[in-house]
Amino acid sequence: MGYYSKGLGFIVHLPCGGVNVAANRTSICPPAGGRTRGWSRHSASSNKFSVAERCSSAATLCIESMICPHAKIESALDRWSECHWHIHQMEASYHLPAPFRYSLNSFIRSVKEIPQLLKMELQNDPAFRNTYKPLIDSIRSNALLAKLSKQRDFIVHQGMLDVLSTGQIGTTEGRGAKIAFGFRIAPHESSDEAYERFKELCRSDKMFRGMAGPDCDSRPCIWREWKSQDFPDTELLELAISAWRLMGEVISRIVVLNGGEELDLTFSCRHDPERVKMKVFGQADFFLSVDGISLDA
Ligand SMILES: [Zn+2]
Repeated sequence: MGYYSKGLGFIVHLPCGGVNVAANRTSICPPAGGRTRGWSRHSASSNKFSVAERCSSAATLCIESMICPHAKIESALDRWSECHWHIHQMEASYHLPAPFRYSLNSFIRSVKEIPQLLKMELQNDPAFRNTYKPLIDSIRSNALLAKLSKQRDFIVHQGMLDVLSTGQIGTTEGRGAKIAFGFRIAPHESSDEAYERFKELCRSDKMFRGMAGPDCDSRPCIWREWKSQDFPDTELLELAISAWRLMGEVISRIVVLNGGEELDLTFSCRHDPERVKMKVFGQADFFLSVDGISLDA
Protein backbone atom coordinates (compact mmCIF):
# COMPACT_ATOMS: atom_id res chain seq x y z
CA MET A 1 0.00 0.00 0.00
CA GLY A 2 1.04 3.56 -0.38
CA TYR A 3 -0.21 6.56 -2.17
CA TYR A 4 -0.18 7.41 -5.82
CA SER A 5 0.77 10.77 -7.07
CA LYS A 6 -0.78 11.71 -10.38
CA GLY A 7 2.07 11.77 -12.86
CA LEU A 8 4.72 10.66 -10.41
CA GLY A 9 3.60 7.10 -9.85
CA PHE A 10 3.62 5.16 -6.66
CA ILE A 11 5.38 6.97 -3.84
CA VAL A 12 5.47 4.70 -0.80
CA HIS A 13 5.02 0.98 -0.98
CA LEU A 14 3.50 -1.14 1.71
CA PRO A 15 1.36 -4.09 0.64
CA CYS A 16 -1.98 -3.62 2.37
CA GLY A 17 -3.18 -7.19 1.83
CA GLY A 18 -6.86 -6.26 1.80
CA VAL A 19 -8.94 -9.43 1.86
CA ASN A 20 -12.46 -9.49 0.51
CA VAL A 21 -14.13 -12.11 2.65
CA ALA A 22 -17.52 -11.60 1.03
CA ALA A 23 -16.21 -12.37 -2.43
CA ASN A 24 -13.92 -15.05 -1.01
CA ARG A 25 -10.88 -13.77 -2.81
CA THR A 26 -7.70 -12.09 -1.81
CA SER A 27 -6.29 -9.05 -3.43
CA ILE A 28 -3.25 -7.06 -2.58
CA CYS A 29 -3.14 -3.34 -3.01
CA PRO A 30 -2.01 -1.83 -5.31
CA PRO A 31 -3.80 -3.94 -7.91
CA ALA A 32 -1.70 -5.88 -10.38
CA GLY A 33 -0.78 -3.64 -13.24
CA GLY A 34 -0.72 -0.60 -11.01
CA ARG A 35 2.21 1.72 -11.06
CA THR A 36 4.57 -0.14 -8.79
CA ARG A 37 7.98 1.10 -9.66
CA GLY A 38 10.39 0.36 -6.88
CA TRP A 39 8.09 -2.21 -5.29
CA SER A 40 10.81 -4.73 -4.47
CA ARG A 41 13.02 -2.20 -2.82
CA HIS A 42 10.20 -0.44 -1.02
CA SER A 43 8.23 -3.35 0.26
CA ALA A 44 7.63 -4.04 3.93
CA SER A 45 11.12 -2.89 4.85
CA SER A 46 10.58 0.58 3.45
CA ASN A 47 10.69 2.11 6.91
CA LYS A 48 14.44 2.36 6.72
CA PHE A 49 14.19 4.87 3.88
CA SER A 50 13.29 8.47 4.41
CA VAL A 51 10.48 9.87 2.27
CA ALA A 52 13.05 11.80 0.27
CA GLU A 53 14.90 8.56 -0.48
CA ARG A 54 11.69 6.80 -1.38
CA CYS A 55 10.70 9.58 -3.70
CA SER A 56 14.02 9.73 -5.43
CA SER A 57 14.19 6.02 -6.16
CA ALA A 58 10.52 5.13 -6.52
CA ALA A 59 9.40 8.05 -8.58
CA THR A 60 12.79 9.29 -9.78
CA LEU A 61 11.41 12.78 -10.20
CA CYS A 62 12.46 14.34 -6.93
CA ILE A 63 15.72 15.89 -7.92
CA GLU A 64 18.26 15.53 -5.14
CA SER A 65 19.01 19.21 -4.90
CA MET A 66 15.31 20.09 -4.46
CA ILE A 67 13.34 19.69 -1.26
CA CYS A 68 10.95 16.79 -1.67
CA PRO A 69 7.34 18.07 -1.44
CA HIS A 70 6.40 15.04 0.67
CA ALA A 71 9.23 15.21 3.19
CA LYS A 72 7.72 18.17 5.03
CA ILE A 73 4.59 16.22 5.93
CA GLU A 74 6.08 12.74 6.10
CA SER A 75 4.33 11.73 9.34
CA ALA A 76 0.90 12.87 8.16
CA LEU A 77 1.33 11.02 4.86
CA ASP A 78 2.35 7.87 6.69
CA ARG A 79 -0.72 8.06 8.94
CA TRP A 80 -2.94 8.63 5.91
CA SER A 81 -1.52 5.44 4.33
CA GLU A 82 -2.22 3.64 7.60
CA CYS A 83 -5.87 4.78 7.39
CA HIS A 84 -6.10 3.23 3.92
CA TRP A 85 -4.92 -0.07 5.38
CA HIS A 86 -7.52 0.06 8.17
CA ILE A 87 -10.27 0.59 5.58
CA HIS A 88 -9.27 -2.68 3.92
CA GLN A 89 -9.44 -4.35 7.33
CA MET A 90 -13.00 -3.02 7.70
CA GLU A 91 -13.88 -4.50 4.31
CA ALA A 92 -12.32 -7.84 5.23
CA SER A 93 -14.10 -8.11 8.59
CA TYR A 94 -17.47 -6.68 7.55
CA HIS A 95 -19.32 -9.88 8.59
CA LEU A 96 -17.57 -10.17 11.97
CA PRO A 97 -18.96 -7.58 14.41
CA ALA A 98 -16.04 -7.24 16.83
CA PRO A 99 -13.19 -7.27 14.24
CA PHE A 100 -15.16 -4.79 12.13
CA ARG A 101 -15.57 -2.43 15.08
CA TYR A 102 -11.91 -2.82 16.11
CA SER A 103 -10.82 -1.97 12.55
CA LEU A 104 -13.15 1.03 12.49
CA ASN A 105 -11.69 2.23 15.79
CA SER A 106 -8.14 1.75 14.48
CA PHE A 107 -9.12 3.90 11.50
CA ILE A 108 -10.61 6.53 13.84
CA ARG A 109 -7.49 6.61 16.05
CA SER A 110 -5.26 7.02 13.00
CA VAL A 111 -7.29 9.58 11.08
CA LYS A 112 -7.75 11.88 14.06
CA GLU A 113 -3.98 12.27 14.37
CA ILE A 114 -3.53 13.58 10.83
CA PRO A 115 -4.70 17.20 11.35
CA GLN A 116 -2.51 17.41 14.45
CA LEU A 117 0.50 15.97 12.61
CA LEU A 118 0.00 18.36 9.68
CA LYS A 119 -0.12 21.31 12.06
CA MET A 120 3.03 20.16 13.85
CA GLU A 121 4.89 19.60 10.61
CA LEU A 122 3.83 22.90 9.02
CA GLN A 123 3.63 25.25 12.01
CA ASN A 124 6.95 26.97 11.24
CA ASP A 125 6.12 27.56 7.59
CA PRO A 126 5.42 31.24 6.72
CA ALA A 127 2.21 30.13 4.94
CA PHE A 128 0.89 28.29 7.99
CA ARG A 129 -1.51 30.84 9.46
CA ASN A 130 -3.12 32.10 6.25
CA THR A 131 -2.96 29.03 4.03
CA TYR A 132 -2.27 25.72 5.74
CA LYS A 133 -4.26 26.14 8.93
CA PRO A 134 -7.55 27.14 7.21
CA LEU A 135 -7.00 24.25 4.79
CA ILE A 136 -6.49 21.75 7.60
CA ASP A 137 -9.50 23.10 9.51
CA SER A 138 -11.70 22.65 6.42
CA ILE A 139 -11.86 18.90 7.11
CA ARG A 140 -14.66 19.63 9.57
CA SER A 141 -17.12 19.46 6.68
CA ASN A 142 -16.92 15.65 7.08
CA ALA A 143 -19.22 14.33 9.83
CA LEU A 144 -16.66 11.92 11.30
CA LEU A 145 -13.74 14.36 11.17
CA ALA A 146 -15.93 17.09 12.70
CA LYS A 147 -16.86 14.72 15.52
CA LEU A 148 -13.19 13.86 16.14
CA SER A 149 -12.16 17.49 16.22
CA LYS A 150 -14.74 18.12 18.98
CA GLN A 151 -14.43 14.84 20.86
CA ARG A 152 -10.84 13.64 20.74
CA ASP A 153 -11.46 10.40 22.64
CA PHE A 154 -14.39 9.30 20.45
CA ILE A 155 -14.44 5.60 19.60
CA VAL A 156 -17.30 3.26 18.71
CA HIS A 157 -18.41 1.08 21.63
CA GLN A 158 -20.33 -2.13 21.16
CA GLY A 159 -23.77 -0.75 22.02
CA MET A 160 -23.42 2.17 19.61
CA LEU A 161 -23.98 -0.13 16.64
CA ASP A 162 -27.00 -1.93 18.09
CA VAL A 163 -29.85 0.37 17.15
CA LEU A 164 -29.32 1.27 13.52
CA SER A 165 -27.22 -1.61 12.13
CA THR A 166 -29.18 -4.10 10.08
CA GLY A 167 -28.68 -7.70 9.01
CA GLN A 168 -30.98 -10.03 7.16
CA ILE A 169 -30.97 -13.52 5.74
CA GLY A 170 -32.66 -14.38 2.49
CA THR A 171 -31.94 -15.77 -0.91
CA THR A 172 -30.36 -14.35 -4.02
CA GLU A 173 -30.73 -15.22 -7.65
CA GLY A 174 -27.70 -13.50 -8.93
CA ARG A 175 -25.91 -10.37 -8.01
CA GLY A 176 -28.00 -7.79 -6.19
CA ALA A 177 -31.41 -9.47 -6.45
CA LYS A 178 -32.40 -10.70 -3.03
CA ILE A 179 -35.50 -11.66 -1.06
CA ALA A 180 -35.69 -11.33 2.73
CA PHE A 181 -37.92 -13.33 5.07
CA GLY A 182 -37.74 -11.44 8.30
CA PHE A 183 -34.99 -13.52 9.91
CA ARG A 184 -33.01 -10.81 11.61
CA ILE A 185 -29.37 -10.88 12.58
CA ALA A 186 -28.34 -9.46 15.95
CA PRO A 187 -25.64 -6.75 15.79
CA HIS A 188 -23.34 -8.84 18.02
CA GLU A 189 -23.72 -11.96 15.89
CA SER A 190 -21.32 -12.91 13.10
CA SER A 191 -22.88 -13.69 9.74
CA ASP A 192 -21.67 -17.30 9.98
CA GLU A 193 -23.30 -17.72 13.40
CA ALA A 194 -26.56 -16.24 12.11
CA TYR A 195 -26.46 -18.56 9.10
CA GLU A 196 -26.08 -21.62 11.35
CA ARG A 197 -29.07 -20.42 13.38
CA PHE A 198 -31.05 -19.97 10.17
CA LYS A 199 -30.23 -23.49 8.97
CA GLU A 200 -31.25 -24.92 12.33
CA LEU A 201 -34.65 -23.20 12.10
CA CYS A 202 -35.08 -24.48 8.53
CA ARG A 203 -34.35 -28.03 9.73
CA SER A 204 -36.96 -27.84 12.47
CA ASP A 205 -39.64 -25.88 10.61
CA LYS A 206 -40.32 -27.26 7.15
CA MET A 207 -42.87 -24.56 6.32
CA PHE A 208 -40.35 -21.83 7.11
CA ARG A 209 -37.70 -23.69 5.15
CA GLY A 210 -40.05 -23.84 2.16
CA MET A 211 -40.64 -20.10 2.27
CA ALA A 212 -37.25 -18.78 3.31
CA GLY A 213 -34.69 -21.31 2.07
CA PRO A 214 -33.18 -21.45 -1.40
CA ASP A 215 -34.67 -23.35 -4.33
CA CYS A 216 -32.85 -24.77 -7.35
CA ASP A 217 -32.29 -21.29 -8.77
CA SER A 218 -31.28 -19.38 -5.68
CA ARG A 219 -28.63 -19.37 -2.97
CA PRO A 220 -28.85 -18.40 0.69
CA CYS A 221 -27.26 -15.08 1.51
CA ILE A 222 -26.82 -12.52 4.25
CA TRP A 223 -26.56 -8.80 3.82
CA ARG A 224 -25.84 -6.38 6.55
CA GLU A 225 -25.01 -2.76 7.10
CA TRP A 226 -23.24 -1.03 9.99
CA LYS A 227 -24.50 2.27 11.29
CA SER A 228 -23.96 4.23 14.46
CA GLN A 229 -26.46 6.62 16.03
CA ASP A 230 -23.77 9.31 15.90
CA PHE A 231 -23.90 9.20 12.09
CA PRO A 232 -27.39 7.94 11.29
CA ASP A 233 -27.32 8.88 7.61
CA THR A 234 -24.13 7.15 6.47
CA GLU A 235 -23.01 3.54 6.56
CA LEU A 236 -19.74 3.35 8.51
CA LEU A 237 -17.44 1.95 5.82
CA GLU A 238 -18.61 4.72 3.48
CA LEU A 239 -18.11 7.25 6.27
CA ALA A 240 -14.51 6.10 6.77
CA ILE A 241 -13.78 6.24 3.03
CA SER A 242 -15.22 9.75 2.73
CA ALA A 243 -13.10 10.88 5.71
CA TRP A 244 -9.99 9.28 4.13
CA ARG A 245 -10.73 11.03 0.83
CA LEU A 246 -11.33 14.48 2.31
CA MET A 247 -8.15 14.13 4.38
CA GLY A 248 -6.36 13.16 1.17
CA GLU A 249 -7.70 16.21 -0.66
CA VAL A 250 -6.23 18.47 2.01
CA ILE A 251 -2.88 16.64 1.99
CA SER A 252 -2.83 16.69 -1.80
CA ARG A 253 -3.34 20.45 -1.87
CA ILE A 254 -0.48 20.88 0.59
CA VAL A 255 1.76 18.69 -1.58
CA VAL A 256 0.83 20.75 -4.67
CA LEU A 257 1.51 24.01 -2.81
CA ASN A 258 4.99 22.61 -2.13
CA GLY A 259 5.60 21.89 -5.80
CA GLY A 260 4.52 18.24 -5.89
CA GLU A 261 1.92 16.41 -7.94
CA GLU A 262 -1.68 15.79 -6.86
CA LEU A 263 -2.28 12.56 -4.94
CA ASP A 264 -4.52 9.90 -6.41
CA LEU A 265 -7.71 9.84 -4.34
CA THR A 266 -9.73 7.40 -6.45
CA PHE A 267 -9.24 4.46 -4.03
CA SER A 268 -9.40 2.14 -7.02
CA CYS A 269 -8.29 -0.81 -4.85
CA ARG A 270 -11.43 -0.72 -2.70
CA HIS A 271 -13.83 -3.62 -2.98
CA ASP A 272 -17.32 -3.40 -4.43
CA PRO A 273 -19.48 -2.15 -1.50
CA GLU A 274 -22.44 -4.35 -2.45
CA ARG A 275 -20.25 -7.45 -2.45
CA VAL A 276 -18.70 -6.49 0.86
CA LYS A 277 -22.11 -6.08 2.48
CA MET A 278 -23.47 -9.33 1.08
CA LYS A 279 -22.19 -12.80 1.97
CA VAL A 280 -23.45 -15.62 -0.23
CA PHE A 281 -23.46 -19.22 1.03
CA GLY A 282 -23.27 -22.47 -0.89
CA GLN A 283 -26.51 -23.85 -2.32
CA ALA A 284 -25.31 -27.48 -2.30
CA ASP A 285 -24.22 -27.23 1.35
CA PHE A 286 -27.63 -25.89 2.34
CA PHE A 287 -29.55 -28.65 0.55
CA LEU A 288 -27.29 -31.32 2.04
CA SER A 289 -27.14 -30.05 5.62
CA VAL A 290 -30.80 -28.93 5.89
CA ASP A 291 -32.74 -31.22 3.55
CA GLY A 292 -30.32 -34.15 3.38
CA ILE A 293 -30.36 -33.87 -0.41
CA SER A 294 -27.18 -34.06 -2.43
CA LEU A 295 -27.36 -31.88 -5.54
CA ASP A 296 -24.52 -33.90 -7.06
CA ALA A 297 -26.47 -37.15 -6.94
ZN1 LIG B 1 -5.67 -0.53 -1.05
